[in-house]
Amino acid sequence: MNQTLTLAVDADGIALITIDVQGRPMNVITPEFVQELTDATQRLASDAAIRGAVITSSKADFMAGADLKWLLASMDTIKDAKSAMAFAVPLNTLYRKLETCGKPLVAAINGTALGGGLELALACHYRVAADNPATRIGLPEVLVGLLPGAGGTQRLPRLIGIRDALQIMVEGTHLTVAEAAAKKIVDKVVAPAQLIATARQWILDGGTAGNPWDGKNFKVPGGAGGMDPRAAQTFMGGTALVSKRTQHNYPAPIAIMSSVYEGTQVPIDTGLKIESRYLSSLLLSPVTKNMTRTLFVNKVAAEKLVRRPDGIPKSKITNLGILGAGMMGAGIAYISARAGMNVRLLDTSLEKAEKGKQYSEKLVAKDVERGRMAPAKGADLLSRITPTTDYQTLADCEMVIEAVFEDRNVKADVTQKTEAVMPATAVFASNTSTLPITGLAEASKRPDRFIGIHFFSPVEKMPLVEIIIGKQSSPATLAVALDYVQQVKKTPIVVNDSRGFYTSRVFATFTNEGMTLLGEGVSPALIENVAKQAGMPVGPLGVLDEVTLELVYHVTQQTKKDLGAKYQESSSWPVVRKMVEELKRLGKRHGQGFYEYSAAPRKRLWSGLSLHFPVAKVQPDVEEIRKRLLYIQALETTRCMEEKVLTDAADGDIGSILGWGFPPWSGGTLSFVDTVGIKAFVAECERLAKQYGPRFEPSAWLKARAVSGTLFY
Ligand code: NAD
Repeated sequence: MNQTLTLAVDADGIALITIDVQGRPMNVITPEFVQELTDATQRLASDAAIRGAVITSSKADFMAGADLKWLLASMDTIKDAKSAMAFAVPLNTLYRKLETCGKPLVAAINGTALGGGLELALACHYRVAADNPATRIGLPEVLVGLLPGAGGTQRLPRLIGIRDALQIMVEGTHLTVAEAAAKKIVDKVVAPAQLIATARQWILDGGTAGNPWDGKNFKVPGGAGGMDPRAAQTFMGGTALVSKRTQHNYPAPIAIMSSVYEGTQVPIDTGLKIESRYLSSLLLSPVTKNMTRTLFVNKVAAEKLVRRPDGIPKSKITNLGILGAGMMGAGIAYISARAGMNVRLLDTSLEKAEKGKQYSEKLVAKDVERGRMAPAKGADLLSRITPTTDYQTLADCEMVIEAVFEDRNVKADVTQKTEAVMPATAVFASNTSTLPITGLAEASKRPDRFIGIHFFSPVEKMPLVEIIIGKQSSPATLAVALDYVQQVKKTPIVVNDSRGFYTSRVFATFTNEGMTLLGEGVSPALIENVAKQAGMPVGPLGVLDEVTLELVYHVTQQTKKDLGAKYQESSSWPVVRKMVEELKRLGKRHGQGFYEYSAAPRKRLWSGLSLHFPVAKVQPDVEEIRKRLLYIQALETTRCMEEKVLTDAADGDIGSILGWGFPPWSGGTLSFVDTVGIKAFVAECERLAKQYGPRFEPSAWLKARAVSGTLFY
């Protein structure tokens, strides 16, 4: 009895292969699927009664790519080129056998076909797709550090030309059915009910049992090879663009380009071997493993609420209160109404509350104008947001999220006013970015129902939400918070209470190091460029201008007050103090910071910086700056693990990439440590501590892990 597909032959001798991978919500490529498709291919080739085959799926999707969980587990056993090839070759060979089985094959694409799913369709000789708006078609392997290794880098350029194929594979683009048809990836689009009949008809009409690239005199559309001016131009422009975007931190896009460049100049069988070689090299790269683990396997697990406590019934927020209709409150209102909740958006005046709703009005107008949202959906979304100043409107809310000023007294006041009216079972959540949750919960009569739900700005764009458990937050409260985050379709991580929690705390070490370098006389352009080369989205000085130095100054003052004698001045304080107190350059919002914003031509580093922070004659090596900027973040994350602010390495890694943009190639701050090697990491931190100060000193806990060789994964 098959577990992944069935094969049924009808009276006309047409085989219908229906994919249905048991126990999976989506069809994915598993070892069982490979085995059963091998058997089916043999039957197609050898059974004279079979005249052709239609391949489709009985699930909503056609087929997603490889089962990445299986792939990740397999990567643990891949240690050398030989074992990598042993993994890379079989599926590629199987699809080639299918393609050349001698019978006409049609892919009947009923829903999403991605990665190895689309590669299966490309190995067929004709593709019909159901006109289904939810369908996505593409080869997104690059997003987890891989390349399309089941023929994708060879068949797609032979089908649609190198330029379009590279764009789809290097960017990991998802196409709609209409876009895929326009690019000629799909031959025909029909109503869903006509799908199988149309596919069968193509065979009955004498569809050919082979692909054009196996015919004589085949030429890649649009040309191939370095001697073809069109292809040469694509590769010259493409390599420059990829280098600029990736700073050579990501091997996958380069491997894709190389596989296409080399493979399209030779017969397809040789091209497929070239592809397997490049896939093998990626399977051996720590970048691939780290990206697959964090950005796919662990991210999906987080979104499925792996951190949700067991045994608590699922909750659903219908009515949500939001206190404070400023930048954050307005954004939270938008995503919550979009998820179907009724939102009461409360501020100190109706005018302010209405201004908060206007933010949603602008976003909806833009989405509707660009065809990304149906007008009726937009109208429904807006009708769900009620601006108010009246606490009584919170009386039926299952949850209230507070996003008022970052001030303990203001927060305590709104907490008490809310608790006076909200149901006893409701959850109160604070969106504070710095104030410890346990302290804020002191204002509450039910601290067990009090929790931190920390969004990032801009809320509608940033994928991460950091949930902070206070000392008294109950498991049931955590479950409600997680259910809410799932409702608004964000990725949650769960952390314990601490000053700056996890994300703000570690992010601050990056900006601190950037300013420390500036204070030491390192050229600001060097600092900014090295950070970006390392893969950070913005340099430390640029990002400080975004969050404003005013905020850094304010948080420092608050921390000083809170910690009293225990407070230790940071290495960057002299720079912060000078910028704020003397130079009054507070950041972008104020028109000036480390950068100039006011005058043309555009944002540029402030020319006066060198007057106040003289540039030293001898500049440090690029590698040394890169190390300082990355190691300090990784080291602080290990401290969060030690202090149990983080209880799971996956949270640390996901939070670092999605929260503040730690380089995705690394797999996150803790994967970074594991990749460097814990012993080497600790030894390097010790050297950095000697040279630059105790902030680089590894703890006894970390040193012990280095001695025992205990990794985070
Ligand atoms: P903001 O100044 O834009 O908005 C705060 C809003 O709260 C204002 O509209 C104000 O009128 C309102 N408000 C003040 N006192 C109130 C009261 N007593 N009752 C009702 N409303 C009141 O601030 P923001 O940037 O939206 O930040 C709000 C909270 O979110 C802060 O705790 C902040 O630390 C946190 N946060 C901010 C960011 C960010 O990037 N800005 C990110 C994460 C978290």
